[in-house]
Amino acid sequence: MSTQPSLRLFNTLTRKVEPVVPITPGVITLYTCGPTVYNFAHIGNLRTFLFQDLLKRTFQAAGYEVKHCMNITDVEDKIIRDSQKDLPVEADNATRHAAMKALTDRYTQAFFEDLEAVKIHQASFTYLPRATAYIPQMIELIQKLEAKNLAYVRDGSVYYRIAGLSNYGCLAHLDRDGMKQGASVDADEYERESISDFVLWKATKSGEPAWESPWGPGRPGWHIECSAMGMELLGERMDIHSGGVDLIFPHHENEIAQSEGCLDHPWVNLWVHGEFLMVEGEKMSKSLGNFYTLRDLVEKGIDPVTFRFAIQSNHYRRLLNFSFEGLKAAENALKRIRIFRKRMEEDKAPAGAGTWKESIDPLKRLEQAQENFWDALLDDLNTPEALAAIFTLISDLNAQDDRVALSREERDAVLAFLDMTDAIFAGWPKEEGTLDQAVEALIEQRRAAKAAKNWAEADHVRDQLKAMGIVLEDRKDGTVGCRKA
Ligand SMILES: [Zn+2]
Repeated sequence: MSTQPSLRLFNTLTRKVEPVVPITPGVITLYTCGPTVYNFAHIGNLRTFLFQDLLKRTFQAAGYEVKHCMNITDVEDKIIRDSQKDLPVEADNATRHAAMKALTDRYTQAFFEDLEAVKIHQASFTYLPRATAYIPQMIELIQKLEAKNLAYVRDGSVYYRIAGLSNYGCLAHLDRDGMKQGASVDADEYERESISDFVLWKATKSGEPAWESPWGPGRPGWHIECSAMGMELLGERMDIHSGGVDLIFPHHENEIAQSEGCLDHPWVNLWVHGEFLMVEGEKMSKSLGNFYTLRDLVEKGIDPVTFRFAIQSNHYRRLLNFSFEGLKAAENALKRIRIFRKRMEEDKAPAGAGTWKESIDPLKRLEQAQENFWDALLDDLNTPEALAAIFTLISDLNAQDDRVALSREERDAVLAFLDMTDAIFAGWPKEEGTLDQAVEALIEQRRAAKAAKNWAEADHVRDQLKAMGIVLEDRKDGTVGCRKA
């Protein structure tokens, strides 16, 4: 049984927009290359994670179950460099591992704090594997490649033999005939001009933490990490693998080589990639002084949700020029939707049997907005068009609402649309969320205390609610609103 609408996405593998036909009807398996946790994520990284969050939320709003796996890369060259630099040469392996873990724990936590701030909820991931917890699976995978003559050992390191795989280069669309194959490389990142046998397992060097392996002490290469975790957690075939465009080569190309070399069948149905983020017209770099983390933006007084909206207002496959002016525009746009929402929530009685100035049926307008919204989003996540559908509805109804009030039913229908769109964009939440009974009982208790002019009791209850994370707002009209702190 499959009743969900079909989403079309640009597949980097085929360079075509294709419908996503889930392997299991109604369920989407999605793998995301996660952060390398040796520093704070910058806003370019966050753009990629926001695009993946939007993708997941769109599937969910369309009625799919999404099994989303995002790895945490907690062993890698830069992590080792930064975590080991202050250790004495004689430090033993356990000390080296502990230092690495201290660094990666710290930045993993910071990463999840940043994600929560932009409303990418940790709880929305099905799996969040750390690479260091999957070393045995990586070793096993390398052994399989070795048994198939797709890997060879040299000086305690193991390399992938790319000449052994006929479709190597399929994702990056490399013209292998026109390229010279370079010597095998030990680095995890290299240019596509120098396609090479890449490293699967790195023999330990002095000053590095190591794991035991059939090839002696060492550690995994970066690429093998994602193949091992992806196959272990999402199975031998998945619907979508995603990342930033910078990962297409060599990382994703090498992931395909590893997984398909082992499986002998296609591993991923669709590869989707998000474009880069430029800052004020230039490539973000520390030397240009335009390198920002989310924390830098927050220090400048920017709401992370505004940042989220600014990113998501642009199509994920377009180069995005991030600017502070753009953030201001995003803030205004968000404000417009929120004010509209508030108007819809205000429970005014309809102002009599007025007629629309033009013969406009608000429910028809809503229906049109819904249709346009979904048409846009299902078409390769066209977020600018989807948001335009919301703004058109707002213009239509704002213009009319002054002349004649919408009925409660009409308002509720509009609010349901706003709820649904907020479930995807996370920018205009319902303020009076569903409160549990204990909270409601306390609010009633405070109302009664106020009615009895027992101010001390009323204040006491307000503090109790505050301790529960509920903030009350006494409105001018005598009603009380509340929101989660
Ligand atoms: Zn990866």
